[in-house]
Amino acid sequence: IEEELRQSQKMEAVGQLTGGLAHDFNNLLTVVSGNLEMLEPLLADEEQRSLLREAQEAAEDGAKLTAQLLAFGRRQPLNPENVDVGSLISGFSELLRRTLGETIELRTSIKGSSHTALVDKSQLQSALLNLALNARDAMPTGGSLTLDISRVRLDTEYAEMYPELPPGDYILIAVTDTGKGMPEEVKARAFEPFFTTKRVGVGTGLGLSMVYGFVKQLGGHVQLYSELDKGTTIRIFLPAVGSAGVQISRKTSNAEYAPR
Ligand code: ADP
Repeated sequence: IEEELRQSQKMEAVGQLTGGLAHDFNNLLTVVSGNLEMLEPLLADEEQRSLLREAQEAAEDGAKLTAQLLAFGRRQPLNPENVDVGSLISGFSELLRRTLGETIELRTSIKGSSHTALVDKSQLQSALLNLALNARDAMPTGGSLTLDISRVRLDTEYAEMYPELPPGDYILIAVTDTGKGMPEEVKARAFEPFFTTKRVGVGTGLGLSMVYGFVKQLGGHVQLYSELDKGTTIRIFLPAVGSAGVQISRKTSNAEYAPR
């Protein structure tokens, strides 16, 4: 599983690079084609026009090539559906438990009801697996990993605490380990693609950046809280589907959802 995940992270990175390059290249080609077209009426003799046509054809071929590259760089199509995050995590916990090994205890708590979010199932599973692998690496001598799933309502009172999030209902997935935590300089860069403190071959530095990208793309937010030698909590806020949220009181929220 791990090898597969590492491989898919690499493929994703290659895809992102290729896709990004192709996209930029395509923009440049649009400028070239556009300018060539404007030149056309300005050219008097046939020889100049024939040179221009050649240049236009080359730009067209280039555009076809970049279209192919873009198609390659695009990841497998996403399939967002209404997913009950609690059930998905319950169903996935056996695999997580096996990934964590015997020295790490997995605890799952699902509070309240209505934990539906519009997500791609396999992306959410892959995000959780990434977080679990990080937690395992942070607890070489054992510990515990806790998954807390709840539904929270962020109203305007929280605008200051979560400026990234519009008020509304969110499914909150909090992933807490009792591992070594992160020093400030790691915390600051943890979500950067390719940033890793792990050995070559062990870390790709893509786990957290993938989680971040996945959540942002859904209009959610990821929050990192980490204390050296104590542990790390990653909170994922996904926009909830449907109503019936539980109002969290300001008192508990300050203690429980401490900003980093
Ligand atoms: P990778 O795990 O391949 O290094 P990530 O993007 O998942 O890539 O993580 C980047 C870095 O953040 C890790 O190398 C590690 O230093 C740190 N990190 C991530 N998760 C944790 C965690 N749960 N506890 C401590 N450090 C972590």
